[in-house]
Amino acid sequence: MSAARPITATVLATCNLAPDLRRLVLGGGDLRALLPPPGALGPYLKLHLADAEGCERIRTYSLRHFDLQRGELHVDIALHGEDSVGSRFALQARPGDKVGLRGPGVIPAPPCRSYLLAGDHTALPAIARTLETLPGDVAVTVVLETPNPDARCLLAYTGRDICCLQRRPGEPSRLMDAVSEATPQKREDLMVWAGAEAGIARAIRKYARTTLRLPPARCQILNYWKAGRAEGEFDCMA
Ligand SMILES: Cc1cc2nc3c(=O)[nH]c(=O)nc-3n(C[C@H](O)[C@H](O)[C@H](O)COP(=O)(O)OP(=O)(O)OC[C@H]3O[C@@H](n4cnc5c(N)ncnc54)[C@H](O)[C@@H]3O)c2cc1C
Repeated sequence: MSAARPITATVLATCNLAPDLRRLVLGGGDLRALLPPPGALGPYLKLHLADAEGCERIRTYSLRHFDLQRGELHVDIALHGEDSVGSRFALQARPGDKVGLRGPGVIPAPPCRSYLLAGDHTALPAIARTLETLPGDVAVTVVLETPNPDARCLLAYTGRDICCLQRRPGEPSRLMDAVSEATPQKREDLMVWAGAEAGIARAIRKYARTTLRLPPARCQILNYWKAGRAEGEFDCMA
């Protein structure tokens, strides 16, 4: 995180990308300090939000898009009920509201020739950004599992190999099996990136490190959230 103190941004607009995914367009302040370095994989921001009692809570969201010319950035928030700090903020945010931002958070990753990107509804923004920012000549395979059958439309489909699974509420996840099936044969220069619920991320991490024997630098597999735990009550890296 480069900015130690939060930058105050203003909500410029909001829109629904899907019934369960809301975009916030943020501007104002010196947002340039939040610009990630070129080639950053899945850069993220810390949003300083207030809970129902007015206490500050910090929530992590991917930097979906940065428009330097307009001085705007986009954050896409998965909605999962009005009780959580992040979902409530996304649902209630109105133009003119203020929000503190810190970042960008970037986990170093070597440039690779082949990428396997996997995740659930919370990883959709990071995967969508990655598809837009990776060079056109690298091989990319995407495995996405979301409740929304139309989620594929939110990804730039530029000849990439995209597998989109629908997971209805109450159904078991098929993400790990789909990652295994989609793994490219050539692994010499493969990066596996994933963001998902912690139990599923753990299975993918074990698969990438133990079965595929990828070095840690080429496995970036994050616990984006953990069932039954609020952010801050678990480690996103392990
Ligand atoms: C690097 C990184 C980038 C991320 N990028 C994004 C992003 O771009 N968009 C995005 O939407 N999320 C993203 N996440 C995930 C997001 O930070 C978590 O989902 C976070 O818990 C949301 O906070 P909350 O206040 O809504 O819920 P919390 O207060 O943290 O949790 C309350 C309850 O809701 C459950 N819960 C939390 N998230 C979900 C969910 N998505 N679905 C179902 N149940 C949930 C928890 O298990 C808990 O029981 C990212 C996480 C990381 C680590």
